[in-house]
Amino acid sequence: MRKLPRVLVVEDEPSIAELIAVNLRHNGFSPIVVFDGAAAQREVDAVLPDLILLDWMLPGESGATLARQWRKSDRTKTVPIIMLTARSDESDKVQGLDAGADDYITKPFSTQELLARIRALLRRRTPEIVKDSVQLGELTLDAGTYRVTFRAKELKIGPTEFKLLHYLMKHAERVHTRSTLLDKVWGDHVFIEERTVDVHVKRLRESLGDAASMIETVRGAGYRLTAQSSAGNTEQGQSINAA
Ligand code: CA
Repeated sequence: MRKLPRVLVVEDEPSIAELIAVNLRHNGFSPIVVFDGAAAQREVDAVLPDLILLDWMLPGESGATLARQWRKSDRTKTVPIIMLTARSDESDKVQGLDAGADDYITKPFSTQELLARIRALLRRRTPEIVKDSVQLGELTLDAGTYRVTFRAKELKIGPTEFKLLHYLMKHAERVHTRSTLLDKVWGDHVFIEERTVDVHVKRLRESLGDAASMIETVRGAGYRLTAQSSAGNTEQGQSINAA
């Protein structure tokens, strides 16, 4: 029998937690409900879930703090996280994504939408990435060992940024629109806004450190990864454009 995907639900409001759990159970998932961060951490340490639904406002540590911790830990850095939030403010969404969430959903939400987003994230996670190794300039990505190195130094990188970088490296020196990237990297982007791409590109640049300038923003078009780092010759580039 196929193993049911384990979904850890971190939600302190019992009625919402129960509603989510019932719906997950009826739709082929195995939900585990906890009410605070400490219990969530114990659960994650015991059995790694396939996905985490994480409420923003929790007693004790906030959802954003937990998401940040889990993204930093080797054990949990690839587990998809959906943030549940009562906040619909654009800046709060970005904060949630910045904290390491892969997606967010604003309360009140329909259970159908929540299920669709969970399925989309799990699909995205299913490794259709070929376990190959790609190199561009001094940047190397090994999908088999999940390592990215620049000048032989290993970089810390989140799961979505890893997939994004993999795609950009396989299709380097070409400009990709946000919508192409959503198609190719996210796969199912029914609920994902193009802005999300910008947030992940920003995170990817932060992860890349010294290699950040290899990702170029092409105005009005999208993004390009290039072996020719443009850092330091911006002026030169501009004068060429002007000529
Ligand atoms: Ca709450």
